[in-house]
Amino acid sequence: MPSGSAPGGTRNTVNGAVSFWYAGTGLPEPRPPLPGDAEVDVAIVGAGYTGLWSAYYLKKAEPSLRIAVLESRFAGFGASGRNGGWLANSITGGRTGYERTHGRAGTVRFQELLNESVDEVIAVAAAEGIEADIVKGGELLVARNAAQLGRLDALAAEAARWPDDAVRLGPAETAARLRVAGALGSVHIPHCARIQPARLVRGLAAAVERLGVAIHEGTTATEILAGTAAARPVVVTDRGRVRARHVLRATEGFTANLKGLHREWLPMNSSMIVTEPLPPDVWEEVGWDGCETVEDMAHAYVYLQRTADGRIAIGGRGVPYRYGSRTDLDGATQPQTVDLLAGILREMFPAAGDAAIEHAWAGVLGVPRDWKATVGYSPDTGVGFAGGYVGTGVTATNLAGRTLADLVLGRPSELTGMPWVNRKVRRWEVEPVRWLAVQAMYAAYHRADRQERDGRTGTAPLAVLADRVSGRSH
Ligand SMILES: Cc1cc2nc3c(=O)[nH]c(=O)nc-3n(C[C@H](O)[C@H](O)[C@H](O)COP(=O)(O)OP(=O)(O)OC[C@H]3O[C@@H](n4cnc5c(N)ncnc54)[C@H](O)[C@@H]3O)c2cc1C
Repeated sequence: MPSGSAPGGTRNTVNGAVSFWYAGTGLPEPRPPLPGDAEVDVAIVGAGYTGLWSAYYLKKAEPSLRIAVLESRFAGFGASGRNGGWLANSITGGRTGYERTHGRAGTVRFQELLNESVDEVIAVAAAEGIEADIVKGGELLVARNAAQLGRLDALAAEAARWPDDAVRLGPAETAARLRVAGALGSVHIPHCARIQPARLVRGLAAAVERLGVAIHEGTTATEILAGTAAARPVVVTDRGRVRARHVLRATEGFTANLKGLHREWLPMNSSMIVTEPLPPDVWEEVGWDGCETVEDMAHAYVYLQRTADGRIAIGGRGVPYRYGSRTDLDGATQPQTVDLLAGILREMFPAAGDAAIEHAWAGVLGVPRDWKATVGYSPDTGVGFAGGYVGTGVTATNLAGRTLADLVLGRPSELTGMPWVNRKVRRWEVEPVRWLAVQAMYAAYHRADRQERDGRTGTAPLAVLADRVSGRSH
């Protein structure tokens, strides 16, 4: 940890080192790589939440299965070890699209399953002895100007149609939970818990190993060869080839690096910063005793949590996307992103204005062309996958893992009938169109936020246009 940071400063901020969530414990001891060619029942590429939940539920259902997880760095290296720690009930890309394509009843059930998944993660963590600083305080969406308030009201009206159990709070009720400067109101949704992400993923990796799953770290897959009537699928890695009855791809924001999948999901960066621990008098001014996860209603929104050790962690999109779908390696983010997030933090919580920013980092998440996640499996090729969660995968990965387990085991279930299963989504455009489109979209969101901060009362048309062009729906 840096010492002697200037008040409110970022000069000594640690940047990268995967994420702050590893700062207390250090990075985990590496597990040995794949020793050479192998044959298993299920090979899983990627040891984040998706890969590990899939392994967990498969092994629980069929203890005799031989399962190998192949991980290029270490379990929890990706977004699962870097995220904002919102164990939320969100359906990636919204519900209205699914309501149109799959009907109301199926979409309502999908939402209920995500609500239940929040509790499932909490229950498994308790059963497996995973200490992940979990507090189920719900999420609080806060409006800070007139245009945001309009969107908040629309959100509250829409939430009332779904099993969100959302409650619209006025300024005083909001302040009773949390004092955000300029807050005009909020919506509280109880189906969300604050977690320490890296503790969850490390605990899950250990739980999966206890069940007898092999995790091979330092093992990079370069290609997945689909199975045929005559041959099983194969994962080609830098350490050997793994033949399996089933192969699951759980590489999310890194998927573009695999052969043939460059345009599947755009790798989008999200960045975070965390303050030093705040003194009791600051917490007295801020409140936040319920540890709700917090988000504002800006287009280029920010998300926050109060950490177990009394800091504020805040995240948002900085430089959202690197040309050619390049993914970063060790979580370093751009200095201007650190300054941007630190500025928003001080604006929201003037009482924390003197707090040093101790750590900054970034991670990569997978964005499909239609901004909706998919769980897929083909019995013909033996290959499955899950991902494209955009920024809402912490809970969805659990439901995805349970769904993949049913698909692999050939067990049709309520989960395998959900609207996100086996969707066909078109691929992203080639460069430079892809890069230009994302830059233009985020420039539009930032300009729309500025216009709204300067007094525009309705949602800025620029933001609506950016949503349309990008294919993003709410
Ligand atoms: C900064 C940030 C904040 C976020 N905040 C939230 C939040 O608060 N709430 C929420 O719901 N979601 C959030 N998300 C998204 C969420 O973290 C992800 O959706 C989720 O962690 C995805 O898990 P995963 O296992 O699919 O992917 P990852 O955790 O990215 O795991 C993929 C793994 O695959 C490995 N891998 C990749 N390529 C290969 C290869 N070729 N061979 C072998 N291994 C490979 C990687 O090293 C990695 O360990 C956030 C994401 C980021 C980046």
